[in-house]
Amino acid sequence: MSAYDIAPGVPAALERFVLPEKLGFGAVNAPVMFSAEWRDGQWQRGTLLPYGPIEVWPGSRALQYAELIFEGLKAYKVGQPRPNLFRAADNCRRMERSAKRLSMPLVPETLFFQGIEAVTRACAPFIPGRSGHSLYLRPFLYGTESGYMLRNSHSFRFMVIANPVESYATGAPTVAIERSEVRAARGGIGAAKAAANYAASLRASSAALERGHTVALWLDAAEHRYIQELSGMNFFAVIGGELHTPELDDAILPGITRDSLLTLARHLGYVVHERAIEIDELLSQIEDRHCSELFACGTAAIVMPIAALAEPDERAYRPARTDEVASKLRAALLAIQERRAPDPFGWTRELA
Ligand SMILES: *Cc1c(COP(=O)(O)O)cnc(C)c1O
Repeated sequence: MSAYDIAPGVPAALERFVLPEKLGFGAVNAPVMFSAEWRDGQWQRGTLLPYGPIEVWPGSRALQYAELIFEGLKAYKVGQPRPNLFRAADNCRRMERSAKRLSMPLVPETLFFQGIEAVTRACAPFIPGRSGHSLYLRPFLYGTESGYMLRNSHSFRFMVIANPVESYATGAPTVAIERSEVRAARGGIGAAKAAANYAASLRASSAALERGHTVALWLDAAEHRYIQELSGMNFFAVIGGELHTPELDDAILPGITRDSLLTLARHLGYVVHERAIEIDELLSQIEDRHCSELFACGTAAIVMPIAALAEPDERAYRPARTDEVASKLRAALLAIQERRAPDPFGWTRELA
């Protein structure tokens, strides 16, 4: 694939940009973005542009039918001259699987990397260098064709936007068990990183926030009995000193952080189990102290300790410990991501 174009406004946009003191997560937009169009059955040459509004047909399938998938990954530059990407090829493969599930065109690996590397390179001077900080990259693909016919678009756009970010969460929040609504069912699109999954989960997430919790914990759609995951994070429990996480099915998003923690935990000598976890059994194991700790994981927060699980009636189940195993795993993973520790798994790659 040929190289991409650089729009005339890019150098000025980069020059104008000043990294604010307070970054939050997603509050600060990187000054450039990447865009490439798929039409007439093929990918067109991509462009690096100043960050700004985009034109979308009001009748586009992305807006009308949620024909949109995305990815999330981070570039780190902590005490290093050049940025490095964490497991970016795995994000590319997951985006392919999401595209297949929604029958959208695949973003070839060359184009995926062209997009994330163009943005990362341009932003390299202001990728925050404090431990835990990074450049969060958000590649996404959406259907641009207008019309209500029930089929996929014939034209698409692949974009990459980015945000310099702090680490996502601090403290140990509580999580609301969602007993009635459903995020994803078997046979649906729960395993694809699709915007529509978030649409299904936002009401419960908002309600959880209003009740003073951070996010909802989802149960399986058929029986409301087995734990799936949080709205944007996978779930772990420490039971009898061993790690347990729901086994993947087509209703659970296969997190790259989840996979990294499973690998890392085994490497550190933990016994790990991927299995069906019954919510009511887990709650009684929290009560009888067999389950000692809970945490969630995802690219944004890396590893987020969970202080308690709350029922709809606010009865709370509080494990004896918070952020013990979680903090060990977070520290070990972050050290690899920031290239402060050896990377025995070949997960990080420095940009040339
Ligand atoms: C992105 C996402 C995760 C976490 O995946 P990572 O690859 O670890 O960032 C978990 N659950 C959902 C629903 C997600 O969208």
